[in-house]
Amino acid sequence: MEPKFIPLSVPNFKGNEKKYVNDAVVSEWVSTGGSLVGEFEKKIAAYVGMPDAVACNSGSSGLHLACMVAGVQPGDEVLVPTLTFIATVNPVRYCFAQPVFIGCDDTLCMDPDAAEAFLADHCEMRNGKCYNKKTGAHVAAIMPVHVFGNMAALERFVPMARQYGLVLIEDSAEAIGTRYTEGEFAGRMAGTIGDVGVYSFNGNKIMTSGAGGMVVSNHPDWVKRARYLSTQAKDDELQFVHGEVGYNYRLTNVQAAMGLAQLEQLEGFIDHKIELYNLYCELLDGKNGYRILPFRSDIRSNHWFFCLYLEDPRHDRDSLMRALSQQKIQTRPIWALINEQKPYADCEAYCLEKAQDYRARVINLPCSTNLSLEDARRVAQALLAL
Ligand SMILES: *Cc1c(COP(=O)(O)O)cnc(C)c1O
Repeated sequence: MEPKFIPLSVPNFKGNEKKYVNDAVVSEWVSTGGSLVGEFEKKIAAYVGMPDAVACNSGSSGLHLACMVAGVQPGDEVLVPTLTFIATVNPVRYCFAQPVFIGCDDTLCMDPDAAEAFLADHCEMRNGKCYNKKTGAHVAAIMPVHVFGNMAALERFVPMARQYGLVLIEDSAEAIGTRYTEGEFAGRMAGTIGDVGVYSFNGNKIMTSGAGGMVVSNHPDWVKRARYLSTQAKDDELQFVHGEVGYNYRLTNVQAAMGLAQLEQLEGFIDHKIELYNLYCELLDGKNGYRILPFRSDIRSNHWFFCLYLEDPRHDRDSLMRALSQQKIQTRPIWALINEQKPYADCEAYCLEKAQDYRARVINLPCSTNLSLEDARRVAQALLAL
């Protein structure tokens, strides 16, 4: 008998998704109007402990809105990690600004030491603003990513952003539900600590609205402006007056319906992810030349994605993935570095050694919120036999 296919990460719709989506369809409010969009914004805001949130049609559009409200200008530079999904970086270019790539530390998130070294050694301050000495460009922002639901070192990036006059944008696309449990930010959620944060509800994220995103900010006027820009920069409800170039970035009512149902289950999803993660650790960490990469111990991570690190060089990433695929187990390599991608090959990049190593040796293991412990055991057994 053919073994059952075990996907990497698929959605889990066992809650009120059908009911709420059906209600939206029956109400005939299926587009960007309709009460559920505002309700989803309120519920996400409450969940992450913010007064307001702006729903948008993807994490990518949310990050574009974040860069715009942050005031990123043409010709500016923005510090971004090189080990991330490319959607972190593209919005910098949508604003006609340039990314400067920074490597990662052992959390897989942007290395604060490397970012600090770039700012201290390669930049200078003039009138409270930071300039790249080599290019002369204004360094406007820093955008750490909470990779796989781990927490980037905000305890370092917050004072760094203040010292160098940078806006701190948190790409929290993968990290809804991740929060500090210790230290000065104890209790605070990923996405809510910097100037502006963005979540994604794409189909492979821990909760999904099919496609969707949410922007939160500690500046109430930025929240207002993000909502304005996301709805075609409409100044007037009736007369078609527009004060700026706007975008059609608003979430739809049908997507919000699905998002609301998913949010009800988010804490349960996280509990199950933690159970799966702990099982993989028990079965695989330190065994057969493998490590399971840890999440920070001073946070409650949402445990979105799990990383198998191929410590023993006898394991070749791609042949290992092929062997699993033959057993109907889907995995994926971690992202190729963004500074090596064609659109970004000419950009500055610093301290890449760790990112290169993780790129070569990490694969992501099946981690769906509806993956059974039994199926996770099958994945581990297949790996131990390689
Ligand atoms: C998913 C993701 C995005 C983009 O979100 P979409 O909703 O797919 O547009 C951005 N950054 C990171 C790190 C992501 O994982």
